[in-house]
Amino acid sequence: MTSRKLIAIALVTGFVLTIGTYWYQSSSGLEAADANWPLGTMDDIAALRERDDVNVLFILIDTLRADRLGAWGYERDTSPMLDHLAGNGVRFARHLSQSSWTKCSMASLWTGLYPARTGVLRFDHVLAEGATLPAEIFREAGFRTGALYRNGWVSSNFGFSQGFEVYQRPTPRPMKASERRDNPSATITGSDSDAVDDAKTFLNIHRNDRWFLYLHLMDIHQYVYDGDSALFGTRYSDIYDNSIHRLDRIIEQLMVYLLEEDLLRKTLIVVSSDHGEGFQERGFEGHARNVYREVTEVPFLIAFPFQLESGVVINERTENVDVWPTVLDLVGLPAMPDTDGESLRPQILSGGTDRALESDSEFAFAELDQTWGRGDTAPAPMVAVAADEFRFVSTSTGKGREELFDHSADPLETENILDEHVELGAELRSAVATYLDSSPPPWGEETPTLELDEMELNQLRALGYAIP
Ligand SMILES: [Zn+2]
Repeated sequence: MTSRKLIAIALVTGFVLTIGTYWYQSSSGLEAADANWPLGTMDDIAALRERDDVNVLFILIDTLRADRLGAWGYERDTSPMLDHLAGNGVRFARHLSQSSWTKCSMASLWTGLYPARTGVLRFDHVLAEGATLPAEIFREAGFRTGALYRNGWVSSNFGFSQGFEVYQRPTPRPMKASERRDNPSATITGSDSDAVDDAKTFLNIHRNDRWFLYLHLMDIHQYVYDGDSALFGTRYSDIYDNSIHRLDRIIEQLMVYLLEEDLLRKTLIVVSSDHGEGFQERGFEGHARNVYREVTEVPFLIAFPFQLESGVVINERTENVDVWPTVLDLVGLPAMPDTDGESLRPQILSGGTDRALESDSEFAFAELDQTWGRGDTAPAPMVAVAADEFRFVSTSTGKGREELFDHSADPLETENILDEHVELGAELRSAVATYLDSSPPPWGEETPTLELDEMELNQLRALGYAIP
């Protein structure tokens, strides 16, 4: 199917959802659509650096596993809009988040540094003022910067608002009656629709400016779904899929808005997630407990101000620490200092065939301090290192444990084959030791901490975390 047909389908769905019965209006909207989101080429990607009209929209979808999206091979049709964006842009097929807990993971995503270097590992840690964050670079370059976030772990008192002119939670609107009925235990108010509504306000105010907008969406984390569209069943894991499908519709509404406002042809769209979600693979549901594949393999896609005739797929392993080095490079802005991640622009421009990554990216790391939520307990780092088809996982709690999985033979990574690969095990054990002994970040050794008051602790507990 051609990309024109696909966008046509996406748009018809969008218009039917948003305009209801005005079918003829949607048809006329479609013709405008192609002009408003034209076709582009690799040369157009290379030339993004020269353009002075490109905005950047970053959609962070909290708690999204890559393997639950159609474009990443899921058999259920959970994500037609995200699939469309990936299919006409760049899809990073094997992408790793740096932790399974939002704050630790987002600190790495924003700084391009591994958790061992950001030092943001425990519930009261703060991302240091000395860190250089992408929003500061955008603002320095004259972009208007805004963020609408729905997860308290990235609130400004944890250091995440650096560089943003607007950094706020969206105004909660009442949920639809059917959603209220289906989500009686929804513990945080509002929905991701509120973030999209407030995003439209931001975009409206800044329609004549260049802007960088970050949306941190939470409905999948909260399993918010709508019984009217509960396509995939009612088990815990099915509801997760229902929730992805519902959120995909919300993102589609935002895309239709960008199209109608003629913003799509001047916006670079970046989508990623901070971590995945476990579904009994290790005996429990949720995240922020370990760093196995199901909680760290997340999607990453880039859609351009134009559609590629056929999308690019990057099959080599990439990481959230690469996201901002890549995006800043694509739009020609200065790089962040001394990152562990690197720009993937060369691989993109080669159409996914250039494997010339630098040698230090042979390994990809994820880390979680398993005692992150406890007051004065000693740190207990759990570290995973991925190398080719293998993942080595080192756990330091109790007597300690080491596991080695071969993804090619064991896609769910449940069979520990360390005993059969002693030499590889030794190499990866040493990589973990080197990782844990990483040099300090550009801003120095000290990780600031924050005294949380009871109200702030309660807001975080409402997300489902056991903290003191
Ligand atoms: Zn999260």
